[in-house]
Amino acid sequence: MTTRRLYYDDAFQTEFTARIMYCEVLPPDVSSGITGNAWSLILDRTAFYPTSGGQPNDLGKIGDSNVLDVRDAGDEILHVVDRRPEDPDVKGCIHWPRRFDHMQQHTGQHLLSAMFQERFGRPTVSFHLGAEICTIDLRGPEPTDEILEGAERAANRIIFEDRPVTVRYGTAEQLAELGVRKEVDRQGILRAIEIESADLQPCGGTHVKGTGQIGIILVRRCAKIRQDWRVEFVCGGRAEKTAGRDFQLLRQVAESLSCVPEDVVSSASRAVGERDANFKTLRSTLECLASAEAALALQSAPPRPNGLRIVSRILDELPPEYISLFATAVAKTEKTVALVAAKEGGQLLFAQHPSARNDMNALLKRVQERFGGKGGGTSDFARGKLSDTSRLEMALAFAREELSVN
Ligand SMILES: [Zn+2]
Repeated sequence: MTTRRLYYDDAFQTEFTARIMYCEVLPPDVSSGITGNAWSLILDRTAFYPTSGGQPNDLGKIGDSNVLDVRDAGDEILHVVDRRPEDPDVKGCIHWPRRFDHMQQHTGQHLLSAMFQERFGRPTVSFHLGAEICTIDLRGPEPTDEILEGAERAANRIIFEDRPVTVRYGTAEQLAELGVRKEVDRQGILRAIEIESADLQPCGGTHVKGTGQIGIILVRRCAKIRQDWRVEFVCGGRAEKTAGRDFQLLRQVAESLSCVPEDVVSSASRAVGERDANFKTLRSTLECLASAEAALALQSAPPRPNGLRIVSRILDELPPEYISLFATAVAKTEKTVALVAAKEGGQLLFAQHPSARNDMNALLKRVQERFGGKGGGTSDFARGKLSDTSRLEMALAFAREELSVN
């Protein structure tokens, strides 16, 4: 039995009556999001659009049942519902906001793809209508900003002209004569959608009546996907929401930069410039501080009988990079070893002047064997981390002892 597709003739029909021709219980199917009891219905006629051609299915009600999914099964359309209707004669009602949104996006896609093809020779090889955004994949070289803007502008001009969008029927040969370039495998009478003087495509989907109902098209990002270029876009109500959200974001950024939205670019680059300058100042200040502290530390670390000086220190409440600056500053003095740890995070850093003739990496490994942790380095500079930060003191004492023994 063939289901009559009411949306073929009138995509604006939201209510209809029909007779149930077939009804069966469906097993739970987690992969399609149906976890509870469900029934599959076939009606003699329907206004429900099934998922196909990149456009998602409609939702709505059949009698008292909620429609969970609508599937294209060749000549028939399967309606997955959450309960079995009692009466074989039912009234169907589709959720119009969802359907109209799909019609805006889908018709917008016809128009945008036509502009990419006609004006810039970029054919569309696939279309996806997502919950938030729509995408088309274009074949050919990377579309420049001029191409993306040019196609968007040309499509919007046709939207402003409110050209009729009409359904045409004909055989593949007849449609080819009318200018349909797409190869169609299906036999018999085909359905095509025409946007006056702009596009003619074979399509079984639902469309608006005139381009004005698309509202507006906003082209968003373009990114390479395998061999093609994926262009993101939104139409109509989605474009309205997107533009509103964009401005909201802009206002939030402006507020955090304490400027008006028009000045965010200059304010942001000024803030980044200041941040970079402050970073440099901080870095040189820390280097000065590290040299001064290293000099003081060396004064209170007299050489041992073998001539080796050991500076051992646990640092607290300083930027993480300071530990390395301090250890490096200490190890600039001949025959000196720096054993430094950061209280926060348990970082360990062993550095030596090459004349000290120890092996910092080996020393760190011995500490790790005893106290646990990870890290490594060279004979002059090794960096690691202790698993248990409460044992830092003990770990440094152990390292000092190891140096005395060797
Ligand atoms: Zn279509």
